[in-house]
Amino acid sequence: MDTVREMDEHYDGAMTRPTQGVHLVIPRSRLSSQHAVAFDSPRDGRHVFLIPWGDFALIGATDTDYEGSLDNPAAILDDVEYLLEALRHAFPTAQIERDDVVSTFAGLRPLIYAPGAAYALSREHEIVESDSGLISVAGGKLTTHRLMGRQLIDRVQKRLAEKFDVHAASQCRTKEPLEGARIERAPASDVSGEAGKRLVDTYGADAAWVLAYAEENPILGERVAPGLPYLMAEVLYGVQHEMALTLCDVLIRRTHVIYETRGGGLEQARAVAELMASRLGWDDDEIERQVKAYAAQVALTQEWRVLS
Ligand SMILES: Cc1cc2nc3c(=O)[nH]c(=O)nc-3n(C[C@H](O)[C@H](O)[C@H](O)COP(=O)(O)OP(=O)(O)OC[C@H]3O[C@@H](n4cnc5c(N)ncnc54)[C@H](O)[C@@H]3O)c2cc1C
Repeated sequence: MDTVREMDEHYDGAMTRPTQGVHLVIPRSRLSSQHAVAFDSPRDGRHVFLIPWGDFALIGATDTDYEGSLDNPAAILDDVEYLLEALRHAFPTAQIERDDVVSTFAGLRPLIYAPGAAYALSREHEIVESDSGLISVAGGKLTTHRLMGRQLIDRVQKRLAEKFDVHAASQCRTKEPLEGARIERAPASDVSGEAGKRLVDTYGADAAWVLAYAEENPILGERVAPGLPYLMAEVLYGVQHEMALTLCDVLIRRTHVIYETRGGGLEQARAVAELMASRLGWDDDEIERQVKAYAAQVALTQEWRVLS
């Protein structure tokens, strides 16, 4: 965000202070708790959370200043050790080892710049407008992201009307339910059982689409990766209904294959790319590029092991 602001002739200094947050992914079967748990780090007293995530538990997060490439944050060994230390302190009998860590992920919080310790920075959001009319938003939380979106869109609409007499065809729609949220539309008979329940939890009423694809073509009923619940039909759903355009997007965000397999599901990446290629018109070179880009992301999640 500050990189864009730097291009503004009225740029008046960085607005954000990025802090990195790392989570560990550990099988839930290795921990006695089936619930979310908050505990303190014995190193600095910060809160750490265990959050159930399907068959896995997320342990995190760290909160440290970050100066590396904004595109490629990654856990380092010290992050992993910090979180394992806190986990062992809270669950001494589980005897968690480094080898229990299936994967890691790291993200950057675009927090509003202020001096002091990273973990003490405010999580509030701010919208600022420069003299040239560039509107920027930073800070914020998952719990406020729709509010932020609405405030920003309302501001842009107002300025477009005032300055250019351009009027939006409709108002900001952040209060409307998301696609699939009208759950009563899902045919109950098709979504019974564990597999159906997971699809409804993920797609809401649109689980019916995924099931229809899987029934129509046996290949789409197959798993994306052995041992994980995701169906190839979900890959198709992502492309057809939710604008998934890259292999990374499908294997990282639409499914969590990258985090839930030790090797990031690299063996399956080509088959997934080939299915996407049939819908997105990729040639062999593009398939190769997609697989390479995904392999680079997998390497980031496992980088701490190489350096340990
Ligand atoms: C480590 C960490 C811990 C956090 N912990 C908490 C917490 O405990 N509680 C809380 O409330 N919030 C927390 N947050 C903040 C929360 O995750 C964010 O506020 C929230 O995800 C913002 O949602 P968003 O939809 O606006 O943006 P995002 O979740 O960032 O989604 C934006 C999406 O757009 C995609 N995208 C970007 N550019 C393009 C493009 N050009 N074309 C197509 N796609 C694009 C991105 O890949 C991304 O998937 C945390 C954040 C981090 C990094």
